[in-house]
Amino acid sequence: MTDAGMGDRMPADAPLLLETLTSPDVAKLIRDQVPLVLPVGAIEQHGPHLPLGTDGFIPYEVAKRVAAGRRLIVAPPMFFGAYSRPRTGGGRHFPGSVGLPGRVLESVVGTLLADWFRQGFRNLVVLNGHFENAWTLLEAIEQGTERSSPDQKALLIHWWDQVSPDDIRRIFGESFPGWEAEHASITETSMMEYMRPDLVRTNLKADGGAQRMTTYDIFPAPADILWPNGIGYSALPASPEIGEQLVSVLVRNIGRILDEEFPGAAGA
Ligand SMILES: [Zn+2]
Repeated sequence: MTDAGMGDRMPADAPLLLETLTSPDVAKLIRDQVPLVLPVGAIEQHGPHLPLGTDGFIPYEVAKRVAAGRRLIVAPPMFFGAYSRPRTGGGRHFPGSVGLPGRVLESVVGTLLADWFRQGFRNLVVLNGHFENAWTLLEAIEQGTERSSPDQKALLIHWWDQVSPDDIRRIFGESFPGWEAEHASITETSMMEYMRPDLVRTNLKADGGAQRMTTYDIFPAPADILWPNGIGYSALPASPEIGEQLVSVLVRNIGRILDEEFPGAAGA
């Protein structure tokens, strides 16, 4: 960004991080209808090898890469998200897995979106990295857009929906286990190994899974449906090379969504 007074000391392709901007910077970006993305994750166990914040780091790091060289503001990630469930995130009994009740998450995200719309932002994006957040974020956006005007728009993007079956086949061949097994496994581990290798305990990557896989939830969850080490399938096939391919697919596809949904606003 070369506009006088903004980012003169930043590299040309540095992402616009909301917390580093000034109020006059934001006034200009709002006038220019520059979109803003809020990454939302969770503080949830991710096996012995990945950090609790994995679901926040992935959308945050992807958003920064999407924002490099294009007009997109990245808000500080929301690291706290919905409760972890045994079949999708291991469950709440793991030390460190803490979450917000749906009504609280809905209220926090809905309030922020409404406040950004009140300030004049036209184009908002919620980029989700935690499966259990999905329905609550939908309701948060409903709440946040209740008072928005017809020229204001919000998108909800789950990163895993932006990897097409063709991309999966190209990257994994026939060896992809399916998204239902993907917790702390190939995709999350690979992307963290590529984007945040400093946070991955590579020597602790392991196989995971439970004795019994159900297609329904049981309360309280019996021991045989729980993942003993917190890994849904296996982290062993993960690699930074797979991570690089997945991230490039996500950056390309999410960039394309912004260009299509916010024509003229998000272009580099
Ligand atoms: Zn995760």
